Amino acid sequence: MKVIYLHHSGFLVQLPTNTVVFDAITDIQPHFLRKGRQHYFLASHSHQDHFAQRIFSYGTDYNSTYILSDDITKRGGSNVHYIKPYETMTFDHPKAGKIEIETFGSTDLGVSYVVKCEGKTIFHAGDLNWWDWDPEERPGIDPATEEADYKNEIARIAEKYPAGSFDLAFVPVDSRLSGHSPIRAAEYFINTLKPKVLAPMHFWDEYSVIDELQTRCFGKGTEILSIHKRNEIIYDDEQ
Ligand SMILES: [Zn+2]
Repeated sequence: MKVIYLHHSGFLVQLPTNTVVFDAITDIQPHFLRKGRQHYFLASHSHQDHFAQRIFSYGTDYNSTYILSDDITKRGGSNVHYIKPYETMTFDHPKAGKIEIETFGSTDLGVSYVVKCEGKTIFHAGDLNWWDWDPEERPGIDPATEEADYKNEIARIAEKYPAGSFDLAFVPVDSRLSGHSPIRAAEYFINTLKPKVLAPMHFWDEYSVIDELQTRCFGKGTEILSIHKRNEIIYDDEQ
C-alpha cells in the first residue's frame, strides 16, 4: 500500500490492484494513476476544500467509480453513486475484486468513510473533527457540544471498529483552532481507535502542526506520518 498526499484532505491510496482517492481538489499527477486499473474517487462533502468537479476528468482512462456524499449537488461524470451517513456500498469487479465502502457521520457536513479493500481497512474523517474553536472567535459555538458531538461519533465508529481495526486513518489537524486544539481530534482518535498508521490532514500548508501531534502521541503505538509537500509519497509498505 502506497499513500500519496495530494493537498489538504486529499490523498491517493494505491493498493496492489485498486486505487482509492479521497477528497481530491487538485490535479493528480498522471504517474500516480494506473491506466486500465480500477480507481475509486470518494468525496466526503460538497465544501470546496473537499470536492472539486475536476475529479470527473479521470473517468474513461482509469475505470473510475465515483462515490460522493449526497449533499454534493454539482453533478457530472458517469458511474457516480451518492451515499448518506450510515450506509454501505459494495463493488465487485471480476478481476480487481471487492471494495466495501461504509459511511459514518460528520460533525460538519456529509460523511466520514471506512473503506475495506485488498485486506486493508482505511478510515477518512472528512470534516468529522473536534471543532474546538475559541469561543471568543466563534461566539455561536459551544465547546462542550462540539466535544460531545465528536466523541459520540467516535464511540459509534468504535462499536463496529474497536481499537486496532484501522490499518490507516486520515484525521484532521486544523491549525485555525487555537492552543492545543488543532491536535485534539487526532489525539483522541489515536487513544480510542488506535489505528496502525495515521495521516494528519486538513492543515492546508501548515505542516508544522504535524510535529506537535507526533511529539504528543509518541510511543502510543500509532505511526504518525510526516508530510512535507504536495504530491509526496508519505507511506509505502512495499519497500
Ligand atoms: Zn473541511
